[in-house]
Amino acid sequence: MNHKLLDVLVCPVCKGDLVYKKDNNELICRFDKLAYPIRDDIPVMLEEEARTVSSEELDAL
Ligand SMILES: [Zn+2]
Repeated sequence: MNHKLLDVLVCPVCKGDLVYKKDNNELICRFDKLAYPIRDDIPVMLEEEARTVSSEELDAL
């Protein structure tokens, strides 16, 4: 995952910053509790493709 790219990516829902989670290869929005998948090094910034993140997972970030 390119960190330069991470700097310019924001959550499509709230336009907030995202946290890159290396273990799952996902970009997480803490505010919306959504995790956006990264497929073939391309972040999929679509709300309908994102999964819901549990509070436990957010705490672990
Ligand atoms: Zn968001």
